[in-house]
Amino acid sequence: MRILLLLVVASLIHAQEYDLLLRGGHVIDPKNKIDGRRDVAIKDGRIAAVAAGIPETKAVKTVNVAGLYVTPGLVDLHVHVFAGTGTAYTGPSSVRPDDHSFRSGVTTMVDAGSSGWRNFEEFKQLSIDKARTRVLAMLNIVGAGMSGAPEQNLQDMDPDKAAAMAAKHKDIIVGFKSAHYAGPEWTSVENAVKAGGIAGLPVMVDFGQFRPERPFEDLVTKKLRPGDISTHMFLASVPMLDETGRLRPYLLEARKRGVLFDVGHGGGSFLFRQAVPAIQQGFLPDSISTDLHIGSMNGGMTTMLTTLSKFINMGMTLEDVILRATWNSARQIKREDLGHLSVGAPADVAVLRLLKGSYGFVDVNGARLQGTQKLEGELTVSGGKVVWDLNGITRSDWKALGHYGAQGDPRWDGIVQQENRTRR
Ligand SMILES: [Zn+2]
Repeated sequence: MRILLLLVVASLIHAQEYDLLLRGGHVIDPKNKIDGRRDVAIKDGRIAAVAAGIPETKAVKTVNVAGLYVTPGLVDLHVHVFAGTGTAYTGPSSVRPDDHSFRSGVTTMVDAGSSGWRNFEEFKQLSIDKARTRVLAMLNIVGAGMSGAPEQNLQDMDPDKAAAMAAKHKDIIVGFKSAHYAGPEWTSVENAVKAGGIAGLPVMVDFGQFRPERPFEDLVTKKLRPGDISTHMFLASVPMLDETGRLRPYLLEARKRGVLFDVGHGGGSFLFRQAVPAIQQGFLPDSISTDLHIGSMNGGMTTMLTTLSKFINMGMTLEDVILRATWNSARQIKREDLGHLSVGAPADVAVLRLLKGSYGFVDVNGARLQGTQKLEGELTVSGGKVVWDLNGITRSDWKALGHYGAQGDPRWDGIVQQENRTRR
């Protein structure tokens, strides 16, 4: 009888309700309007509970995240990760997703048009299927994608073929992109919008060369539909301010129509002299994204967290910034399963430290903004597993472990390699 009782007690102790518990952090979950101290519990790759005072004994692993911010895994709406065998962004200009994502709190990346219908499946095979980061894609309206000169080929902008490929990969393709077009016609934009109409998906436009034959003002007040996205909003060529420095009224008109404005910082598309006055006059971005590629990663953009930090130092609140890198971004691509910490959602979580000190931030023309705050990626959880742990806050001191084998537990640990667990 006593043995039976002991067995029952032992099985109760081992049957923990949660795999991972992030305890004592400041949760910012804009979708659920949470901005305060909460614990976040995870089970089987999903958010299981968000509440104050969840007991430590209920989880296989508890991590103390007091003093840190706990947010939904960041969604970067504009990156280039088709590091394939082609040219330009279908090859050497793109980067690999896992090299950049988790260390910056990003758990979902949206490739903005690097591939088109002709090479999307190569992109999927080489990059999307191999990444641990969730990679979604906007399909370029040009069949050959962002491969350089072919981007100017009007004959290759086929809305039916693009929409058919999107229908075939509904779980990955979340929109269409028109990019870098230099000619005087609207064909690139119009065909992307046409594909969007067939597939029921949004369109993102990088306006390419700004030409008098097709004014930017017409793009956002006439050509784009509500829910379509104009990226590179703080690019030098965007007519943002009038001669007296006031925000041009057509931008508010476009916003009223439901057209969305994305940052897409990149290597050439973000100036403080555009962004600071716009933000001061209340024209905030709908989404904050990096436009990550080899030309931006070592420039002023650097990372998703550097990009978000710029907006904090330009006067936006942390809550406003997180909204625009989580729930807003997920909604734009109609992936309302992402970008929040609702019970049942995929357990993608970023744990961020807000550093206070003296920091400099640089734009694409090489101008600097002096700031006092900077976000750092402390811990990232993807699909319920810890995939980034900057200071080892999930770990025990080696001196206390004796002759130690592989640490962690596969129920929460996505870092220690499985093969190490069988080694001594
Ligand atoms: Zn881009």
